[in-house]
Amino acid sequence: MDLKVAKFGGTSMATATSINQVADIVKSDAGRNYVVVSAPGKRSKNDIKVTDLLYSCFYDLEIKGECKENFAKIRDRFTGIVEELGLKFDINPYLDKVEEEMIKFHSSEYCASRGEYLSAVVMAQKLGYEFVDAKDIMVFSQEGVFMPEETNKKVAEKLSVIKKAVIPGFYGADELGVIHTFSRGGSDVSGAVVARAVNAKLYENWTDVNGFMVTDPRIVENPQQISMLSYKELRELSYMGANVLHPDSIFPVRVSNIPINIKNTFEPSNAGTMIVSAMPKEIIDKRAVTGIAGKKGYSIIFIAKAMMNNEIAFVRKVLSALEYYNVSVEHIPSGIDTMSVVVADSEIAGKEDAIIEKIRAAVSPDAIELKRGIALIATVGHGMAFKPGCSAKLCTALANAKINIRMLDQGASELNIIVGVSDSDYENAVKAIYHAFY
Ligand code: ASP
Repeated sequence: MDLKVAKFGGTSMATATSINQVADIVKSDAGRNYVVVSAPGKRSKNDIKVTDLLYSCFYDLEIKGECKENFAKIRDRFTGIVEELGLKFDINPYLDKVEEEMIKFHSSEYCASRGEYLSAVVMAQKLGYEFVDAKDIMVFSQEGVFMPEETNKKVAEKLSVIKKAVIPGFYGADELGVIHTFSRGGSDVSGAVVARAVNAKLYENWTDVNGFMVTDPRIVENPQQISMLSYKELRELSYMGANVLHPDSIFPVRVSNIPINIKNTFEPSNAGTMIVSAMPKEIIDKRAVTGIAGKKGYSIIFIAKAMMNNEIAFVRKVLSALEYYNVSVEHIPSGIDTMSVVVADSEIAGKEDAIIEKIRAAVSPDAIELKRGIALIATVGHGMAFKPGCSAKLCTALANAKINIRMLDQGASELNIIVGVSDSDYENAVKAIYHAFY
């Protein structure tokens, strides 16, 4: 029996019915000893996640000094779940303490973390597993930075003497006991951290879809499911918007080559997507493109200057100007006398003119222009490396769909080809690329 860490997302924890399904899944495999849970998510399209209600409580506290109305909704959700599960356990004292401490600590991260805390308390009761508070094992610095090595030691030590436990995802604490959270969706990271610490054979990430699809099902109808993905491919795809799993989740498991299996709580028999450190050769030989992901909301800073290629430190000066304004850069495709810097709109919002002036002062370009409305699409796959014709196929597909490529970037690793297209062409471009390879 292989040791597994099973992490269940918000939809899996949303109702008593889904929690019963979670319990059945956990109990059906004697190796599922450590369970990490999210806060209850949406029960229907227009429902509100418990984490969002908790953030609203914090804002209420800021503005009105009380959060009775929103906290009542949280209380109702948890008492309802406990009652429907038929647990002989009173959750009200836990809720009372949380409400009291939310007022006392006045911290948005403390408030946000309580969904996972209460969810794990309930799940531990349901399974008869021990509850292990993430605040005692997940270590953050006082500045709120996650400390992986300190955490690994603490989790390993604590769980070495507890055979079966439920651990809340999403948060931890610093040495003073102050609660800090990961970014949104961070319970995925917590699960990966636990998997590394207990040296699990497998990290199961249970969600509400059958794993990764080759591309966004909102754009392409019924895209194929990806059966296997490498850590590297996952990183590229999730960075570019394939948001089944938090992009930081691979770092802890990568250290020990622990595979991640994305599974669907509502269709447990589906094999889901397996994420592995090294892709088997047979798959690489068979499949050029593993996935296609993309996002709108980018701009290109286009710079031209005669003899740019001869000017020492030209690129550094441009990048220093961007660094001055704290802008992180996505891609820098360049020509002989031109360079383009691709940036996310969110990075430059409100400071566009100042950035252009700073670059102008730094390198005196012949021309500099900000081109807005760019969408980036990453076509990712180990199978593209050393296979002639992949970029030709991709470009031909876009040309046939009458889509103009505004930018093209392929690194020497050949793991991905990134194209920039106009926002308005985004959906059609994704469809064209998908149908060219699938
Ligand atoms: N509950 C948190 C969120 O909604 C963390 C998580 O579910 O992973 O972002």
